[in-house]
Amino acid sequence: MKNIFSVFFVILLCALLSLAPAMAEGGVILDGRWLNADIQGNVTEDTPTVLKDDYGLFVNKDWILQAEIPAGESKTGSMEDVIRSLKDRQIALMKDDSLTGHDAELVHKLYALVSDWDYRNAQGVEPAMPTMEAIRGIDSLEALTNYLYDRNNPSRFYPLVMSVDTDLINPDIYMTQIGTPSLMLTDSAEYTERTQAGELYQALYEQLGMYMLTRLGYSDEDAAQVIENAFSFEALMAAHIKPTSTHYQADYFTSLLNYYSPEELEALAGGFPILDMLQAFGLKVGERFLVTEPDYISALPKIYTEENVVLMRDWMAMKAALSMGTLLDYETFKQMKTIANTVMGITGETSEDDNALQTVLSLLPVPMDNLYVQVYCTEQQRQDMLDIIADVVAYYRVMLENVDWLGDETRAKAIEKLDNIRVNAVYPDVLGDWSALDFAGIEDGGSLLAADTAVNEYVLALQSEKIDTAVDKDKWDQLTMQTAQVNAFYNPQNNSINIMAGILSGEIYNEDMSYEQKLGGIGTVIGHEISHAFDTNGSQFDKDGAFSNWWTDEDYAAFQARAAKLAAWYDGFIPWEGANYSGQQVQTEAIADMGGMKCILAIAAQQKDFDYEAFFRQYATVWRMQGLPAYLITLVAQDTHPMRYLRVNATLAQFDEFVDFYGIREGDGMYIAPEDRVAVW
Ligand SMILES: [Zn+2]
Repeated sequence: MKNIFSVFFVILLCALLSLAPAMAEGGVILDGRWLNADIQGNVTEDTPTVLKDDYGLFVNKDWILQAEIPAGESKTGSMEDVIRSLKDRQIALMKDDSLTGHDAELVHKLYALVSDWDYRNAQGVEPAMPTMEAIRGIDSLEALTNYLYDRNNPSRFYPLVMSVDTDLINPDIYMTQIGTPSLMLTDSAEYTERTQAGELYQALYEQLGMYMLTRLGYSDEDAAQVIENAFSFEALMAAHIKPTSTHYQADYFTSLLNYYSPEELEALAGGFPILDMLQAFGLKVGERFLVTEPDYISALPKIYTEENVVLMRDWMAMKAALSMGTLLDYETFKQMKTIANTVMGITGETSEDDNALQTVLSLLPVPMDNLYVQVYCTEQQRQDMLDIIADVVAYYRVMLENVDWLGDETRAKAIEKLDNIRVNAVYPDVLGDWSALDFAGIEDGGSLLAADTAVNEYVLALQSEKIDTAVDKDKWDQLTMQTAQVNAFYNPQNNSINIMAGILSGEIYNEDMSYEQKLGGIGTVIGHEISHAFDTNGSQFDKDGAFSNWWTDEDYAAFQARAAKLAAWYDGFIPWEGANYSGQQVQTEAIADMGGMKCILAIAAQQKDFDYEAFFRQYATVWRMQGLPAYLITLVAQDTHPMRYLRVNATLAQFDEFVDFYGIREGDGMYIAPEDRVAVW
């Protein structure tokens, strides 16, 4: 279950106002090739637009000049328009009293709890006080342990993450995974060397924490101390957590393969009572555990000590206070939003309906998804997607057959993997069953916080039941994969391509589009997703989704050399002065963009009188965006996708079809000499 902590704050990420001017000076082409047109204010009437120099800007300039970031938001663009239209549909569902059945009842009951401010204001911050008082009363390691063991305490934060997922090596079985905790500054490296993004997060959490803690009864002085202690405790943990940059290295998945029996896990954790914590959290003890970072778990006895009790207690107080910020009265909700908006440079406010939807979706993802499928999904949409996917797979096969740097043995395995890709298109055949969930509504004196606790317990029980059981590969699990989201993705752990219903609107796909526009929209998205089966991550999983090497050494070395060339090229981009752009961070998505484009261009080449102009323009239109400087700072720090102006220009410039169609020549901004091109496939 995503807790409110992450949902609320990840969406509202923005920038310190003091950082913004360094970017907003704008208009400077720092990397010597393309202007970063994604930053609001970088493009003006006077900005030259030459198709052959900067295709994305040429296509999107008129849109950019009139684009307005909606009130309360940090960005706008074609993807954001699709998200908007999805939200409008979901808001209608959330408020539609004519819908019946258990899912609709849960949604309406929760919506009433969320939207009735008179009811919430009458409760004030009282629902939060027992938790805060219980945490405040912790004064010894024994008291801390007892608090974490007591399932009547709703807000329990552990210095580790316990979750249930499929086994990496044997994807037919669910098992418990033990990971490292998420940190407020997001990356453990931030605790020793602070970046622009780290400064932003620190400012954000300090201000939010100060408000929430004082609202919940702490004095200014005590609140400041709690915040300082919370960051100090995170620094203790961060010293043993690998930096995010290691997640993009070639050996990342190999580094995760650490299996333990319950006895071995307990030995690894030294004196830290890890199995008791696991059961107190709500998961049963399974036969085996996968531990992502054993060095962190073995360091826990040094972190979880009598000496550090106050630091950990205050870390829990900070986390608990922040997690409840959206679930209490109007004053608290409003102040939290205002602080986040100010830090991030966001103007205006999102609507009451949007705010309510965010909470309803975070608590009831599956019931909301079921309502969406019943009202908005059609057999026709699914058939359209299956047809396009079949075309893409067929041409991908030809592509793999013709790649000249692949040996026959690896080629055969790659094609076998392609042929074995599972497809989940638009909606599941069997809807998720949350009929056993219930919570008290307004008429029974319920509270939003109590509903949140009931949902968390329910989801944990569902997860616990899965441990050591076989994976039903035909089942579409809406808990991890809601179709009402603007997304499409490849899952290497079951070799599946997944096209969500929420993405099928606006500039991505609509029935009125020409064939070329559909290929430029949803076609390139599908090509991109299938390419993930053969990016630097996907290539390490086999046709059944098992982590397993199916490459010959020679072919894998050639593949890695091509990926390294691509990453080195992206390292050279400087989206604004002072930004660190990491080619390794964006390499899987860049490989997928280019692989997908190559595949769709191969489909285009088979068509008579194909309208390349309409196709290329649509592709550039899909990725247009305008974002606030602060938002882009957090995006570049975390996103594995290249910035959108690069998704357009860096991708298209790799292909003869594009270069030839527009007559692009050496010296033009969109020209890359064939020997310098970086497409892996
Ligand atoms: Zn992708």
